[in-house]
Amino acid sequence: MNMSDPDPSATGGDETIPLLDLPQDDSLFSEALQSLLRTCRGSGGDLDSDFQILFDGSPDMLLALEPDGTVGDANPSFLAASGFDLPHLRGRSALEILESGYRDGFREKLEALGRNREGGGDSLPREIFTFRGLRADGSSASMECLLVPVRIEDRDSVLAAIRNLTLEKRLLEELRESEEQYAALSETISEAIFRIDENLAILFANSGALSTFGYTREELVGQSFRILFPEEVFRTYEDVFRKYFYVDDKDRPAMGLRRTLEVLGTTKNRGVAPMEMSFGNSKVFKERTLTCIVRDISHRKNLERKLRHLAYHDRLTGLANRELFHEDLQAALAGLEKDKNRKHAVLFMDLDGFKQINDTLGHDRGDRLLVEAARRIRESLRDADTAYRLGGDEFTALLSGIRRVQDALVVAERIQASIRQPFFLEGAEDAPVSVGVSIGISVVPDDGNTVQEVTKCADIAMYRSKDSGKGTCTVYDPAMDARVAERWRMAQEIRTALVRGEFRLYYQPIVDQNGMIRGLEALLRWPREDGKSIPPSVFVPVAEESGTIFLLGKWVLHRALADLKVLQDRNVRDVYVAVNLSGRQFEQPGFAESLVEVVRASGVDPGRLRLELTETTLMRNPAAAAQRIQGIKAALPGLRFMIDDFGTGYSSLAYLSNLPVDSLKIDLSFVANLSRTQNEKVVKAIINLGHSLEMGIVAEGIETRDQRSYFVERSCQGMQGFYFMKAAPLPHVLKRLERQTRGIPPFGEDPGRGGPAGK
Ligand code: C2E
Ligand code: MG
Ligand code: MG
Repeated sequence: MNMSDPDPSATGGDETIPLLDLPQDDSLFSEALQSLLRTCRGSGGDLDSDFQILFDGSPDMLLALEPDGTVGDANPSFLAASGFDLPHLRGRSALEILESGYRDGFREKLEALGRNREGGGDSLPREIFTFRGLRADGSSASMECLLVPVRIEDRDSVLAAIRNLTLEKRLLEELRESEEQYAALSETISEAIFRIDENLAILFANSGALSTFGYTREELVGQSFRILFPEEVFRTYEDVFRKYFYVDDKDRPAMGLRRTLEVLGTTKNRGVAPMEMSFGNSKVFKERTLTCIVRDISHRKNLERKLRHLAYHDRLTGLANRELFHEDLQAALAGLEKDKNRKHAVLFMDLDGFKQINDTLGHDRGDRLLVEAARRIRESLRDADTAYRLGGDEFTALLSGIRRVQDALVVAERIQASIRQPFFLEGAEDAPVSVGVSIGISVVPDDGNTVQEVTKCADIAMYRSKDSGKGTCTVYDPAMDARVAERWRMAQEIRTALVRGEFRLYYQPIVDQNGMIRGLEALLRWPREDGKSIPPSVFVPVAEESGTIFLLGKWVLHRALADLKVLQDRNVRDVYVAVNLSGRQFEQPGFAESLVEVVRASGVDPGRLRLELTETTLMRNPAAAAQRIQGIKAALPGLRFMIDDFGTGYSSLAYLSNLPVDSLKIDLSFVANLSRTQNEKVVKAIINLGHSLEMGIVAEGIETRDQRSYFVERSCQGMQGFYFMKAAPLPHVLKRLERQTRGIPPFGEDPGRGGPAGK
């Protein structure tokens, strides 16, 4: 056989390994092998002693194979490294010492050599084959072998010179294997997997990548990674992608690189979709590659959006909720730092009279009213502005980018006008209801730099609106803080005054048609050392707000019972004492029990005690109020209840007739302006109502003789007012009562005797 010089540069060259190109170079083999091959050639094909010496002495592992791969001989290097002994090997196929995955490849190499031998090519026919070989103990190692056709003892043979792979080659080989495994594995994953090189060209794409992005493998591999993103997105992220190449996983947090990126990807035919990417870099030789796992998260994003909507929106009205209000306001505040000329306004809104509607018409209609109110508020805003429902009948709006506070006032007025329109609620079509809305406005950043500050200011302004007659709108003013502080100080002072015994209970007579005193309304007085007395209309609400009303109310009840005992002991008959109860006091758990206890302990006849509750208190929860009143009346027979300030609440007839109350007190605002036909009508209606429900009627605030006559003519049982007497300390009242015990009406028709009586 004619063999030319082995030329290292003219390689056998048909060895291609998928994915990786191994350098094919037999110069890696030892000098000894080179001379062995020369010997083979020189010997004219006979395996002479020289060959045998070289064969046995070679540091390379050598096998002499028959053309079909049967082992003829193995040198000591091979036997030492593989752990086999020669008799065991001889006659067996070399295929058996390869891992099974390499056997076909080896067989092909041998066949190729055979064909080449027949073809008698110019260059030295040889094959390099990389494989994993098995040792006798079953372990395996990566090897490469050079297969060279030789003639030994005049027979065609193949010399296999085997070497352990160099470290680099072994790594490559292992990598190739892991690549294959990786490719196989990546096919089982639905996520898109790409491997890209440093130029961001796609080296590899699994089938998940094809289905996610809608391209064929040919359309992807070799292309730039940029085809997977909208141009802008790619431009933004290009540098970030590159960073992932060089920064290893463990160093990423320190470098500010996130473990995953959420970016917008673009697919071939589904348009853009949100994608989540994670990265693993690897160094193949000196070149780095980046493996990207890309997940289409449209579904998750949709879900998130839905959840977000649920989390950030009010179920009932669909408006944004308190959480979103805080977030938006926070963002608005943050945005202002960048743009000093911008202002935002926060509107804090609370419906007036909603509670009554909710309590009297039921929660269903209450809910419908809220939905409709929410709609009206939203429609009163520009698109750029947002309305929120904080809960109950509390709403806010964030008006962004206003120039002056007047802009916000215009919006507030629009909202108020819209809310004032009657509400036609389903199930109550024939009787539209109406509510108002009290609004407070604060301006960002003038009124604060934090969400809490700004919200508090709007809230304070809103309360100011409520205080000043509801349905109004107030712009926050720092002086209001002073008012809040003032109220707090007053609450403290109420406590101190209680401890020091500074409060007094005055009594105002309730007079019948004949000028006889039928009852005395107990009214709190707080005379102060500085001479300025604070009216109960000021300190009672503060006491209610701060909770001191519980102590204050207890004191009033004790005082009134003690005074009633005095009347009883002085033999003043048929005169009751009416005590005002505050709503909070009445609704406090345990109130009924403690009331029953103190009344019983006082020794007074419950028939001489009346309790006044305002219409507003009763209508907050009429059913519960009715139940509580019933309980108290059952425990204290004879005790009666009166509805105070009647006509100012939103009583519905249905509830009124079910309330176990005994009399109505017409609110003095109607009495004061009887000349107005509207008021007169209300008063007439209340009197008729009282008569038909068999309730007593008391008119309060009678200041003139005409007013007195008016109510006398309409057979109103009780009258109370400055015309008769202002509230006074008990001894004053007792003086008046002395006459009465002698049978003389203290407030007879004669103005000389009964006119406005001063003290
Ligand atoms: P109210 O229960 O409706 O008491 C009637 C108020 O009208 C009293 O005011 C009384 O002085 C006033 N008044 C009586 N006659 C006339 C009149 O002819 N003309 C005018 N303009 N006013 C008249 P006052 O004492 O200032 O009490 C105001 C409110 O404070 C009371 O309204 C009641 O709601 C509350 N209040 C007073 N004392 C107590 C109390 O002991 N407990 C509770 N919870 N509230 C109280
Ligand atoms: Mg009263
Ligand atoms: Mg009243």
